[in-house]
Amino acid sequence: MSDTLAPVRPGKLIINGEAVDAASGATFETRNPATEERITSVAEAGLEDVDRAVQAARAAFESGPWPRMKAAERARVLHRLGDLVLEHADEIARLETMDNGKPIFESRQIDIPMVAGCFHYFSGWASKLTGDTTNVSPAFFTYTLREPVGVVGAIIPWNFPMIMVGWKAAPALAAGNTVIVKPAAETPLSAIRIGELALEAGLPPGVLNIVPGRGSVAGEALVKHPQVDKISFTGSTEVGRHLMRTAADTVKKLTLELGGKSPNIVFADADLDAAVRGATTGIFYGKGEVCAAGSRLLVEKSVYDEFVGRLAERSKKLVPADPMNPKTRLGALVNEKQMNTVLEYIDVGVKEGARLVAGGSRQPVNGKGTFVQATVLADVDNRMRVAQEEIFGPVLAVIPFDGVDDAVSKANDILYGLASGVWTRDVKKAHAVSRRLRAGTVWINMYNFFDPGMPFGGYKGSGFGRDLGAACLNEYTQLKSVWLNLE
Ligand code: NAP
Ligand code: MG
Repeated sequence: MSDTLAPVRPGKLIINGEAVDAASGATFETRNPATEERITSVAEAGLEDVDRAVQAARAAFESGPWPRMKAAERARVLHRLGDLVLEHADEIARLETMDNGKPIFESRQIDIPMVAGCFHYFSGWASKLTGDTTNVSPAFFTYTLREPVGVVGAIIPWNFPMIMVGWKAAPALAAGNTVIVKPAAETPLSAIRIGELALEAGLPPGVLNIVPGRGSVAGEALVKHPQVDKISFTGSTEVGRHLMRTAADTVKKLTLELGGKSPNIVFADADLDAAVRGATTGIFYGKGEVCAAGSRLLVEKSVYDEFVGRLAERSKKLVPADPMNPKTRLGALVNEKQMNTVLEYIDVGVKEGARLVAGGSRQPVNGKGTFVQATVLADVDNRMRVAQEEIFGPVLAVIPFDGVDDAVSKANDILYGLASGVWTRDVKKAHAVSRRLRAGTVWINMYNFFDPGMPFGGYKGSGFGRDLGAACLNEYTQLKSVWLNLE
């Protein structure tokens, strides 16, 4: 994995500062969904390996240098890791695109800067975490200490494999925790590479461990392990519910970033050119395999017909192509199972009475790959399955509405509350609607923007807790109240 065009080395587990095989010797294959070729084999963490990783992280937390070193020194190491990600940008981006099928444009130009940005941004926080002195009584000296929670397990999905390492490991490490990352079995390569670079950056052994393997084995073992203090999970609502129940046994702290079915609302007074562009990137960026995807497009009735026409025209121009080509904007879905789910949903939508105005089919590239066309279903009713269920693919459901109240009520009539979009030239309407939307993020006249400094997370069935921003440091720290008797 060292040089950009070299064959990909087999992936190992990273435990206690070393790249190792699984104790059982088990491996699994990771495949490129665009070419249907095997990329390489990866060591598969079992119970024994997870236990070893937890012991290493525990020891690094209890007696290692990481939580004890000067905050500025921790910051320096994390900053160096951000630099190393940028130095190896082409190589890591290539691994990500091979593993996931997303366009290299996205891996290289969007995901890499976000990962490096997380290490750079949160390195700055290491030296800025503070407690308070409190004014309880002249008889006491009372203050709070903000302390790391301990050993953090990060369980991440396949849609943003490297980004999720940055989102979760960077703040947890900055606060002085030690971390075990369980990447999705579908896409383990970028996390392993970042784990190697972390050692090069000077992270002490056991501080950042990477345990690729199956969720039902390695993931489950992390959630059950009594020596893990906290789980930060991004993934489906279904698995999230299961983790909550499992984590109850050890009273583990949890952050859950779950699914979404986000409303993107276009009012008649919007800049419609910008809104058509925002609606298409809102759903087709990342092949629609994006938790925050603007997958429910609500369009005001007076511009509905015109808007749907322009949307269909633009979507038809977005054709699936080789993800390694820097010009490509629509890649391959992560695997065949995901592709079949997406194709089934398109069928369900049409049977429910939606009108297919763009795409609708699989479209292999060079005769291969799990590519699906940019698909637009118009005349969708908010009660249809394609309006209520997360499809996680390049399928947009367009729903008409009549006025602000109808827009807000349709937008909120859903299990999820992850993100939302509002398109209007009326600044009062934009802010008033933003307050009424039950979602963790509102984008006004833009969609799908992220920054390490802006918190991200869900309302309702989309989970709780926040990634990113100063807010996420609360997820990785706890407060201790100290009382000193002055009398
Ligand atoms: P998933 O099936 O829930 O898997 C997520 C992670 O959990 C994977 O690493 C998976 O391992 C692991 N896992 C599965 N079963 C587990 C168990 N019993 N115990 C512990 N870990 C377990 O989700 P996905 O299909 O990978 O990702 C898509 C979902 O993620 C979508 O619903 C999407 O909306 C959501 N998502 C949310 C956000 C957000 O910020 N809210 C961001 C991105 C994605 P394996 O897959 O390796 O078995
Ligand atoms: Mg793969």
